[in-house]
Amino acid sequence: MNEEALRAELVERSRELHQRGWVANHDGNLTVRLGPGRFLATPTAVSKGAVVPEMLIVVDEKGAVVQGTRGGFSELKLHLAAYKARPEVQCVVHAHPPTATGFAVAGQELGPPFMAEPVVSIGPRVPLVPFGLPGDPDLEGAITQALAEADVLLLANHGVLSTGPDLETCVLRIELVEHLCRIALVARQLSGPTPLPTHVVEALTEKHRKLFPRGDATATETPLPMEASG
Ligand SMILES: [Zn+2]
Repeated sequence: MNEEALRAELVERSRELHQRGWVANHDGNLTVRLGPGRFLATPTAVSKGAVVPEMLIVVDEKGAVVQGTRGGFSELKLHLAAYKARPEVQCVVHAHPPTATGFAVAGQELGPPFMAEPVVSIGPRVPLVPFGLPGDPDLEGAITQALAEADVLLLANHGVLSTGPDLETCVLRIELVEHLCRIALVARQLSGPTPLPTHVVEALTEKHRKLFPRGDATATETPLPMEASG
């Protein structure tokens, strides 16, 4: 996809975050890897529903704006940490979808997988990364660590960070996590979700790894988080 098409898609996806009620005020941000040390990004201080192509900026690997007239957003460092941790990741999307963010502010993970298809799409775990303000090196370190085993993360007291090979996948991953959190919320009001058997989760995780191979050789050596608790 050429840069013009990427810009058009970034704007479309930005507006989608707003239309779906996953952001309020100036919340949320999206980036796309253009090439070595070049990332296309939404600008700071604008509603994701009001982004137009001329507003987009290009930043370098340190977050400095190298193209465009607007400023970079404060959470850019989180995106850059994700690109550094996972060389094959092409896009990062961050939003505050209400139910998944509810889990994140309550300090709760989804727990062991309770449905099959999501494991194939996003792996066996959506880790909860401890709270930190943007720019906190501990937060960036925690994101790097969490991305070694997962593609989409809950950020404590904050929201969701999604990575992927393209913007569509990033947005679908946020949609899926939000949906799973809604299902978990209902299940917890009943008898609680019944976890899938471990051997089933292992087989599904294998499928996930084949569908979405890692660029980082060390990531495949990370033990599977089968013992993850909720
Ligand atoms: Zn945020």
